[in-house]
Amino acid sequence: MANFHIKEAMVAEGLHINPMSRRILERVPHESYENPSEENPPGHMGKDTLHLLAYKGEFLKPCPGTKEYICCGYQILNVATNCPLDCSYCILQSYFLHQPRLRIHVNLEENLGAILAIIDQDPKQMVRVGTGEFADSLALDPLTRWTDLLMRPFSQRKNAVLEFKTKTNHIEGLLSSPYRDRIIVSWSLNSPLICATEEKGSATLKQRLEAARRCQDEGFVVSFHFDPLIPHKGWREGYGKTIGLMERYLKPEGIIWISMGSLRFMPDLKPIIRKRHPGTTILDGEFITGQDGKARYFKPIRVELYEFIREHLEKWHADPGLYLCMESDEVWRKSMGWSPGNSEGLKGFLDERVAKIFR
Ligand code: SF4
Repeated sequence: MANFHIKEAMVAEGLHINPMSRRILERVPHESYENPSEENPPGHMGKDTLHLLAYKGEFLKPCPGTKEYICCGYQILNVATNCPLDCSYCILQSYFLHQPRLRIHVNLEENLGAILAIIDQDPKQMVRVGTGEFADSLALDPLTRWTDLLMRPFSQRKNAVLEFKTKTNHIEGLLSSPYRDRIIVSWSLNSPLICATEEKGSATLKQRLEAARRCQDEGFVVSFHFDPLIPHKGWREGYGKTIGLMERYLKPEGIIWISMGSLRFMPDLKPIIRKRHPGTTILDGEFITGQDGKARYFKPIRVELYEFIREHLEKWHADPGLYLCMESDEVWRKSMGWSPGNSEGLKGFLDERVAKIFR
């Protein structure tokens, strides 16, 4: 199992009777509040405490992406913010530095009708939805059972897919559901060293791949994200080992896509990483400032990383559905040998993958 501990929950007054709250509060010690503190103690993000509240914003939103690079047109279903895992490179550390605790939006069920109505507006438009951008999709699923709420309605729609993206092996909710169609279970992968040293609280690489195999055996479509790729000492051997393990555990035909992205971060994240993860080596590389203001590796390094992973994956399977996350047309052409040209083109490529895998 993943390696983190939830100590307690705080529930907004009046929300005890909400079905998701009740489920969580049966399992976690709790107290109610009127005005909880909104400040984190320095360096502490309150990752051991759940905060159950009614979310007032829009549940379904386009991934912010970045207009300077080619993006995939993903929609984020905002079921929670912040994550009990503690990856050194996590961007949420700067997003939620001043927003303590793990916020669970327990009013998801009462908003589900409105969310689905947005998807149903245009049946010809394919909507790729994920819950894993502001939180890990499955880390808290044993408590929240998002899977119970979301799998049935997404399975019933031909113009949508729902991707659960995780670094855990919390697949019980998925396996106990009868629904498979339009559901994608997805793991972030990295080299064994990065998984073990920079992804605190996550399942081991082997546990992730065992969970992926179990999901494939149980009829699920799966996907993978090599993101963030980090050129650390021995990275070729490390990423080669990860791909070797994928070959051992998985059937490549059942993989809908595999994305690649290299480490990138806004400058304000750097001091936070230094403070919260003093032993990290991820900041040792040489970075430039990209067109979107984020620090990134030099182009030739990024191209080398992507080429290496692509060549190894393509030896295993001719059509692994590879794509790049937030990269330029030039980097696409140099590392992949082709480019979708723009975000619309990438969206079209991924929509075709959906049509091919979910016939
Ligand atoms: S699993 Fe994702 S959301 Fe959670 S800490 Fe790691 S990078 Fe952040």
